[in-house]
Amino acid sequence: MSVSNTGYIGRFAPSPSGPLHLGSLLTAVASFLDARANRGRWLLRIEDIDPPREQRDAANLIINSLIAHGLSWDGEVLWQSQRSNSYEAALTQLLDNQQAYYCSCSRAQLAKNNGVHPDQCIQPFSAGDAAIRLKIRQANTGFVDRVQGAQHYTIDQIGDPVLKRRDGLYAYQLAVVVDDAEQNISDIVRGVDLLDATAWQLHLQHALSLGPIRYLHLPVIVGDDGHKLSKQSFAPAIDDQLAKQNLHQVLHYLQQTPPPGELGITELLQWAVEHWRVDQIPRQTALSL
Ligand code: GLU
Repeated sequence: MSVSNTGYIGRFAPSPSGPLHLGSLLTAVASFLDARANRGRWLLRIEDIDPPREQRDAANLIINSLIAHGLSWDGEVLWQSQRSNSYEAALTQLLDNQQAYYCSCSRAQLAKNNGVHPDQCIQPFSAGDAAIRLKIRQANTGFVDRVQGAQHYTIDQIGDPVLKRRDGLYAYQLAVVVDDAEQNISDIVRGVDLLDATAWQLHLQHALSLGPIRYLHLPVIVGDDGHKLSKQSFAPAIDDQLAKQNLHQVLHYLQQTPPPGELGITELLQWAVEHWRVDQIPRQTALSL
């Protein structure tokens, strides 16, 4: 695996549940600018591990939008659908070390316990009809986010996350941690809706003895209804024909305001790389559309 000169390796990791919308473009642009401003590499990973939630062609549409907006990644695209062997190897290691266990608790059982896994279920079940969960051992965890500041989680706030679902699909928490390690990611830039998931990911990294990662969680764009723009809520796809306007719009949200005038896409991104200021990103969790 090649390493950038500066050691910085970032990534954009969309799930192909729909085409890019303004919110996901904001994440792509911010992670691209942070990587390039740090003279790092910027990788693309398609997180296609949940077929029931995927939309046909979404991965191609996402890739075309990135190209249309001048966001060129380094190296080959990593497809999570082709990474089952690595996920199985991580699960085997965790199960062998008693850091993960089979669980057949129903949602109703978990709900009685505020969604946190009750210990009674930790006993052997038939592997075919059980999820696999990570056993969280450390009491507390925390990290300092580059935009959202210091975060702290106690064990009863987070519970034991599912790593492989009862239906056999790999969970996001497992795949993201294994692949961030595979790609030697040093820096994650993503939406604040994944801030709390970071606590689980830190526990899992620790269980697998993986190296540290820096985090930057961006405010998310919310629509008129106060909900985050998302593919699931059918946020409108960005129009690739309006790439320059779209870039201006997300730079404005990130408070990286380009000079007035007619810059082309390449010059606009170049300007944004040279003037990238993390301290200007709004220190909040939501930005109104
Ligand atoms: N695949 C996730 C999404 O599209 C993002 C994963 C990540 O950046 O950690 O929301």
